[in-house]
Amino acid sequence: MLLFDKVTKKYDQDITALEDVYFNIDKGEFSFLVGPSGAGKTTLMRLLIREELPTSGDIFFDEINVPKIPRQLLPQYRQKLGIVFQDMKLLQSKNLQENIAFALEILGKETKEIKETTEYLLELVKLQDRRFLFPHQLSGGEQQRGAIARALANNPELLVADEPTGNLDPDNAFDVLTILRNINKAGTTVMVISHDKDIVNEMKTRVIRMEKGKVISDNKGDYDTIKKPKAPTHIKPKKEEKKDTEDVKESKKELEIDERIKDLEPSILKKFVDAKINTLELIFNLTESDLKNLKITKKEQEILEAFVKDYLTKSK
Ligand code: ADP
Repeated sequence: MLLFDKVTKKYDQDITALEDVYFNIDKGEFSFLVGPSGAGKTTLMRLLIREELPTSGDIFFDEINVPKIPRQLLPQYRQKLGIVFQDMKLLQSKNLQENIAFALEILGKETKEIKETTEYLLELVKLQDRRFLFPHQLSGGEQQRGAIARALANNPELLVADEPTGNLDPDNAFDVLTILRNINKAGTTVMVISHDKDIVNEMKTRVIRMEKGKVISDNKGDYDTIKKPKAPTHIKPKKEEKKDTEDVKESKKELEIDERIKDLEPSILKKFVDAKINTLELIFNLTESDLKNLKITKKEQEILEAFVKDYLTKSK
């Protein structure tokens, strides 16, 4: 689902925040990302949400080449992710229920769906009886659970939480952990950045440890267990190469068009098909200059953005 392949990120000539980072995360996994301050954890997250670009290396999410996503399609890509930042606060002027509902309103959901999803999320984070309270009336743990509920509003495929138990007492920390675990059991892939040994050791799950911009350990177990990460065994999640004879057969076959893009505006679809772009993933991987080369007009770009957004909303 997520692959960092030999990713290096330099901020300046002399600041290497990440160096040759390799790891992959499977769908449905629960993992911890640990390491001292300055290890590169935040940088890694910023690359994942495409706030920063790698200096070298590849990042794939669901076979989408993240650094290459055209800027116009970034909002759609980011809808696949749920991020709970350390300093992410709920909106002070709205109560908890309104905070969650607002995240859904931004996504353009209908009133009935907003109501049902808000209800479901409040229940998931066990805050039904706190719904009318404003953030300053909630405890630290409750605010954190509220922020998690909000990050889940777009039904992300991957939830990343940065120090979700930081500043919480053990009881509240374990409540947050239980909620993250339940979210994971319900099918969402979860990655938690944490310093909290007790929390990490409680889970006995995968721990990716970073130090000075490198992954120095990748193991299933405790916070302190060090196990060297496996060397990359494969490079990109590309389709297997076909033998020559199959290639010939393939070229004779008419290009099969992905069901998911069949309803795309015919003029745009024709431009894509002529360029052998026949799947949604290929469309996601187009760069801005690709779109230009394909002579996709500004109007068509708007239609395309709306189409992708609509697809992502419906597919949930
Ligand atoms: P962590 O989240 O593990 O504390 P960071 O990713 O924040 O680590 O930082 C990794 C390294 O990159 C540190 O040396 C930090 O000073 C540097 N760094 C982070 N962000 C920037 C930036 N915007 N400009 C320059 N250096 C940065």
